[in-house]
Amino acid sequence: MDLMAGPVRSKEIEILKARTDAMQKRGVTPTLKVILVGDMKASLIYTRSKKKFIENFGASCEIIHLPSSINEAEFLAEVGNVVGDDSVHGLFVQLPLPKHLSHIDVGDLIPGHKDVDGFNQKNIYELFKGDRGDKALLPCTPKGIITLLHHYNIGLDGKNVVILGRSEIVGRPMALLLLNHNATVTVCHSKTQNIKAITGNADIIISAIGRAKFLDRSFLGDKKPVIVDVGINHDDAGKLCGDVNYDDVKDLCSAISPVPGGVGPMTILSLAQNLLQATEMSL
Ligand code: NAP
Repeated sequence: MDLMAGPVRSKEIEILKARTDAMQKRGVTPTLKVILVGDMKASLIYTRSKKKFIENFGASCEIIHLPSSINEAEFLAEVGNVVGDDSVHGLFVQLPLPKHLSHIDVGDLIPGHKDVDGFNQKNIYELFKGDRGDKALLPCTPKGIITLLHHYNIGLDGKNVVILGRSEIVGRPMALLLLNHNATVTVCHSKTQNIKAITGNADIIISAIGRAKFLDRSFLGDKKPVIVDVGINHDDAGKLCGDVNYDDVKDLCSAISPVPGGVGPMTILSLAQNLLQATEMSL
């Protein structure tokens, strides 16, 4: 079975529309601002597709496009203006920032109640304490993966889940969120020894390492695991692909999220859900 985002988004967008309509009846339009610095092609594409999805259910999204030459003081002032604007319910800074700004911890710049990316320490602390998203605005990719698994009735309680990758935006928050859903979690990284013995015993494998078609059948045991592919890479022919060698493993797993069409669109759905949660919390 392919874990496609399409059916999940079709169902969830109706819920997002209804929640937005209800707020608009109270005179409030959920409003997102995105701060984009520079002209990196991938960032331009990501921000445009986020805007399109948000506007599709009646919320508002503005991209504040700043030149890559902007200095730190000007950048911080721009973020500060949006943070202080009461008509804005959520905002995020599209990463990566240009090199001269990359030391800035954007999670610290945006207050927890507007932090639709879920990177602020207040939200991370709620996640750390066991929240499943009732209090915290959760990091979008891990949240989207939980929504995807839930939609396809893939339970987590007591499951042996192996995560490949320990980044701040995927691997680490994913591990916490899975713990909060009662999974037994193992996190692997570049220093992990004998990874195949670990993945071979997994019920669910979540790969977020950023290496094209890295995970093949040699990583799988007899368990027919569920595989979630977070990677966004390009193969030798320049074609978009995940971390997983889809054709090699598809008959040896019980379900797999494809790239494209799996986790990527779920991340955008989570952003939209976080925007509405932030707006509702502000009323
Ligand atoms: P990242 O910051 O690049 O970190 C990669 C992680 O993978 C690190 O923890 C690294 O270990 C680990 N790793 C690298 N090679 C490994 C190996 N051979 N075996 C085991 N672990 C290995 O990762 P990221 O930002 O989470 O991104 C990962 C991928 O997901 C990228 O392709 C990115 O484009 C994609 N992504 C997709 C979405 C989406 O919405 N679909 C969202 C975010 C990211 P060390 O810590 O030891 O270096």
